Amino acid sequence: ETTVNRIAAGEVIERPAAAVKELVENALDAGAKRIEVILAGGGIERIEIIDDGCGIAAEQLALAIERHATSKLADEALVRITTLGFRGEALPSIGAAAKLTLISRPAEQDSAYRINVSGGAVSEVAPAPGVTGTRAIVEDLFYATPARRKFLRSPRAEAAERTVWRLALAAPHVAFRLVSGERVLFDLPAQTEAARVSALFGRETAASLLPLEAEREDVQLTGLIGPASLSRATMGLQSFVVNGRPVQDPMLRLSLRLAYRDVMQAGRHAVAALRLTLPEEALDVNVHPAKTELRFADANGIRSLVIGAITRTLERPVS
Ligand code: ADP
Ligand code: MG
Repeated sequence: ETTVNRIAAGEVIERPAAAVKELVENALDAGAKRIEVILAGGGIERIEIIDDGCGIAAEQLALAIERHATSKLADEALVRITTLGFRGEALPSIGAAAKLTLISRPAEQDSAYRINVSGGAVSEVAPAPGVTGTRAIVEDLFYATPARRKFLRSPRAEAAERTVWRLALAAPHVAFRLVSGERVLFDLPAQTEAARVSALFGRETAASLLPLEAEREDVQLTGLIGPASLSRATMGLQSFVVNGRPVQDPMLRLSLRLAYRDVMQAGRHAVAALRLTLPEEALDVNVHPAKTELRFADANGIRSLVIGAITRTLERPVS
């Protein structure tokens, strides 16, 4: 399964949204308080991620983009990961598929240093201007494999934008700025979860949301849900965060639909921002290399927790 996942990782990373996800997760792992994402051509031409996290020391730069020895991929590490990491495969995969530049400076280092990888060929590490933190620049995602470009001839800018939107919902305590093409899509300070949902769902939609809270054994569910909406503008306003990670999980999506089943009429859809917290042992996030799919040890328990909490919240009389 490891080999299959690794091969899949190489394929997955060439989608701009996947590269963006890995780079932003690295910034979050680095403890960034502020993350800026700048996309050109939907991310195929250029992705730039700037964070103010811990940085990478000059002597670690080459290591960061190297394919890690299998020892780092020991089986238990595969099963249990508590950070958002991609098992040391993300930067090498991006460096193999595109032109990757890292410019990084830990706070205690006298200057920033840079390294380039282009189709797997690695440059020298050299001093470069830069403030504390890391700038990752990905250019020409299909540079190394032009044949694959055919499958994505017109980059879908929305996919990469959506990915940043989901990550920003998952980490409201981190300031996020997203620029795509000429447009600033959002520029948000560190804020509460409710304020972040309001900013990203739209203030009007957010005003109709009800807080939700439920617990079952060692699983906590919190979030905000809205009455089933008819408005096209609210379509797709559904977010699931599990242990801090944004996920697109079929079981969670189905639970949402089942919970809304009775209040849903044709054309209506659920509006919800849900967050689950549970012990890492209770899930395996490595089911899919893009890591947006999960396997819950107790899927039935999670499903009834979600459905029960939503049903109760929707039935609660409006005060
Ligand atoms: P992983 O995240 O699984 O460790 P990656 O290939 O994504 O693997 O990153 C390799 C390493 O590079 C990370 O472990 C981390 O030490 C370093 N790194 C990558 N991006 C950043 C960043 N934005 N800030 C600080 N360190 C980073
Ligand atoms: Mg990573």
